[in-house]
Amino acid sequence: MNDMKHLPNSPEARDIAYHFHGYTNAAAHAETGPMIIERGEGIYVYDSGGNRYIEALSGLWSAAVGFNEPRLAKAAADQMAKLPFYHNFGHKSHGPAIDLAEKLISLAPVEMSKVFYTNSGSEANDTVLKMLWYRSNSLGQPERKKVIARQRGYHGVTIASGSLTGLPNNHRSFDLPIEGVLHTTCPHFWKDGAPGETEEEFASRCAADLEALIEAEGPETIAAFFAEPVMGAGGVVVPPKTYWEKIQKVLNKYDILLIADEVICGFGRTGQMFGSHTFGMKPDVMVMSKQITSSYVPFTAFMMNERFYAPIAEESGRIGVLGHGYTGGSHPLGAAVALENIAIIEERELVRNARLVGARFRKQLESLQDHPLVGEIRGVGFIAALELVNDKRAKSVTGPVGQLGGLMNAALQRNGAISRNLGDAIAFCPPLITTEEQADDLFAIVKASLDDVTRAVKEL
Ligand code: PMP
Repeated sequence: MNDMKHLPNSPEARDIAYHFHGYTNAAAHAETGPMIIERGEGIYVYDSGGNRYIEALSGLWSAAVGFNEPRLAKAAADQMAKLPFYHNFGHKSHGPAIDLAEKLISLAPVEMSKVFYTNSGSEANDTVLKMLWYRSNSLGQPERKKVIARQRGYHGVTIASGSLTGLPNNHRSFDLPIEGVLHTTCPHFWKDGAPGETEEEFASRCAADLEALIEAEGPETIAAFFAEPVMGAGGVVVPPKTYWEKIQKVLNKYDILLIADEVICGFGRTGQMFGSHTFGMKPDVMVMSKQITSSYVPFTAFMMNERFYAPIAEESGRIGVLGHGYTGGSHPLGAAVALENIAIIEERELVRNARLVGARFRKQLESLQDHPLVGEIRGVGFIAALELVNDKRAKSVTGPVGQLGGLMNAALQRNGAISRNLGDAIAFCPPLITTEEQADDLFAIVKASLDDVTRAVKEL
């Protein structure tokens, strides 16, 4: 297949011919073609035409230290030269895996026991679910295999993690979710709060919905609750006040484990090291990815407390081996880059920077609240969303869902910023290294783009 818009044999034409993209309309790609990103520099990326963009989503919520950090390149090169690969099967280990496990446990908001390494966020969540089943069998509770996640939550795309995800496009035509993965209420007050209901009342309702689901399914059948401290891909949903306090009370009542998916929130995004710090969560397991290496290499992990770990260790002792592990799990390159990346986050006080610059940026966004197309501005730390509506009172869009978001996304890109629209919400998650001045530049682009969309909507 060739696209007449692109020269034969151009990178664009070859991309269309050979490259099957994730999260892309494959049918439209032959017509649309790719945007080819050639290089990165700080918070900016450059396309093949030489145009510069602020990467307002840090790539995929991930490049915390920006797009050309030389210390990470050096850490990777040094590790490549010394020991480019080793694994942790059969009692083997290596320095970077040991140092990183110790470091991660020292950063946790609650007492943790062990770290398990994986290669993607999806794989990490998938593994946690498998371990939960193994654990329940070990405890002599084979009926305790179901898990609860949330509508619009995001936990990945493998068969198990895609089932945990609560978004229709991740299920439709994939025959997901699998049996035993349940979904409860999304805690989006602005969207789903009832008329007259306070934020706290809505949080109580979310907790009551969770409790009702547990009771209906049978508390003894539920192993764990999976949740992001702040929902990312489902629309940057910051939970209502008192939400986590009330949810954790229900989980404790029924002895259900809490799995905090910190894939986006971890390593400073919410203004503290982990989202669990920001929201007073006491998870049994924390899943970490993206900002752990600034996504320079695919490398992820989860850490668990003794309550989660001990029965698993016992079962593997009875069987004679843990029948689970990945070739790339504990990859020395990933571990070395993660260690250096976390050192940079600490030395440069990037968590504090995210808190301060994030607060300034969100305040600027909030000045747009009265704009007729702005439904809600939400966020915490340095993650935010601008939800567009054209029926402000009904808090809804009158045209097709995603049309306004798509227009805004395109306008941002024309004006020099890359983001992503999650339906009609535009997400902002800039690198943690963003300065005040750069955040002001981004805001100026947002404002100009909103003006462009206002004009475009009048012409629709
Ligand atoms: N959990 C969360 C909260 C995520 O945001 C993502 C990725 N956006 C994942 C899991 C899945 O990670 P991956 O794409 O590496 O499989």
